[in-house]
Amino acid sequence: MHDLTRCVHHPAVDTEGYASLAVATHRASTIVYPDAESFSQRKHRGFDGYTYGLHGTPTTRTLEAQLSELHGGVRTVLVPSGQAAVTVVMLSFLLPGDKVLIPDHVYPPVRSFCEEYLKPRGIDYGVYDPLIGAGIAELIDERTRLVWIESPGSGTMEVQDVPAIAGAAKAKGALVGCDNTWATPLLFKPLAHGADFACEALTKYVGGHSDLLLGSITVADIALRQTMKETLRGLGVGVSPDECALALRGIETMGIRVAHMGRVSEDFARRLARSPAIDHVLHPALPSCPGHEFWARDIKRSSGVFSIVLKPGAEANLDAALTALKIFAIGASWGGTRSLIAPMAVKADRTVKPWTHEGTVLRISIGLEDPDDLWADLDALLFALESKPTAKVA
Ligand SMILES: *Cc1c(COP(=O)(O)O)cnc(C)c1O
Repeated sequence: MHDLTRCVHHPAVDTEGYASLAVATHRASTIVYPDAESFSQRKHRGFDGYTYGLHGTPTTRTLEAQLSELHGGVRTVLVPSGQAAVTVVMLSFLLPGDKVLIPDHVYPPVRSFCEEYLKPRGIDYGVYDPLIGAGIAELIDERTRLVWIESPGSGTMEVQDVPAIAGAAKAKGALVGCDNTWATPLLFKPLAHGADFACEALTKYVGGHSDLLLGSITVADIALRQTMKETLRGLGVGVSPDECALALRGIETMGIRVAHMGRVSEDFARRLARSPAIDHVLHPALPSCPGHEFWARDIKRSSGVFSIVLKPGAEANLDAALTALKIFAIGASWGGTRSLIAPMAVKADRTVKPWTHEGTVLRISIGLEDPDDLWADLDALLFALESKPTAKVA
């Protein structure tokens, strides 16, 4: 063997005795086969086999298996983002003439996808009141192939009656998908409550450090996995093992991160509810939150994201007050170690149940900073909002 060949042929080393606690990052496009026969038979390697890097490596399989176990499903599909987790389900199971139902509080890019991508291709969508419960049966016609759930809802936190909605959908032969990003599989398992697809933006709590984008779809029925496999192959969509390695690291600490963030978010929500600058606190753990009873029945604990509705008139000072924050960062895509705050435009995104609150909605994501520092920051924000605008209005 000459040196040029030595450069490209890595020597095989002994791995006997090498047992690490870390999951190795396996990168690959090409997968090689021991003989021509196995190459020609590669398409029979099944869901868990290896044929091409795009379709999985041992690193991605590890994360898939871990999420399947946490969700009580049989297989998990990994996709490049949480948004892709929603759209891949829709692209896989909706055909021209079909219809999907989405809740009014849905993650806004999902509504845009229905309007701008599905509709021009002959796939209709309907929007429903997130608190409709079993009443959704009336909206499910023979064209309705999929009912989408997001609980609690993006930004406004309405908790949905997942078993009632899923039960009504099932009775009419529709599939049910649930965006479970707020709860994570630690706080809620959609498959155990009647959903066919449990979707997560792993970008948030699983990643946990604001440095990766990934999504997952877990199913309990292997036939659904087969259909999505065909979609992903057709689209050429796969995920990077490096992102998966980060997610595998993040998931190890997700339990204590989410538990801590949930405790702090509940405590802050109760304290904020007493502030005169605040009109409403939208947190599933508060009895005033729409759907609180379903949170208490099905979810029971909290993660770290909730929203507050400011008193009308507080906007006058809001930009300056947000910019003056010392610990909270201003930004979207929550779930990391840093606490975030961001104003949200809600009104324009509601078509079924008009949003009647006049004040600005701020979404808060609790991170891992000392809660006293966070509270001092919020306190300063509230003080700034409370003092000047009322003087201005008067
Ligand atoms: C963030 C988020 C998404 C999208 O996740 P990305 O990875 O940012 O695409 C979808 N649904 C919910 C509820 C989210 O919070």
